Amino acid sequence: MSECVLVKSIRGADVLISDGYTYHLNKKVNETFYWRCAKKNKANCGVTLTTKWCHDKHTDMKLNHDHDHLPDPEALIRRKLTSALKDKAGNSMDSPAQIIQRCIQDVPPSCAPHLPNKVAMSMTIQRTRNKNMPALPKNST
Ligand SMILES: [Zn+2]
Repeated sequence: MSECVLVKSIRGADVLISDGYTYHLNKKVNETFYWRCAKKNKANCGVTLTTKWCHDKHTDMKLNHDHDHLPDPEALIRRKLTSALKDKAGNSMDSPAQIIQRCIQDVPPSCAPHLPNKVAMSMTIQRTRNKNMPALPKNST
């Protein structure tokens, strides 16, 4: 197991990406996390992964068996892009076009064809901004 990255799905669920495979959090018992392959439904993949949360990262990763489908190395790049978009949408006042421009600069050109289109990306930005809209202050005292 090499790189293991934890990201948030569009719906805010925990997603773990490792070796090009994507996992959704199934359950968490104390410090042990149980993940399911994201292709469970599409590829009928029954792989589950367990990790231990230790020193602020997931360690001791164990697969129950090998995936019977190919990894999707672009998944990580797409996820990273989406979280970068969300990050900038929440932290800057730039227009969606500017944010997209800046975020896709970090993407390797070989992955460009696999990226979401710009309409989808600006929707991500818009959605994040709508969600982050501060509620009117109720008590300033
Ligand atoms: Zn799988």
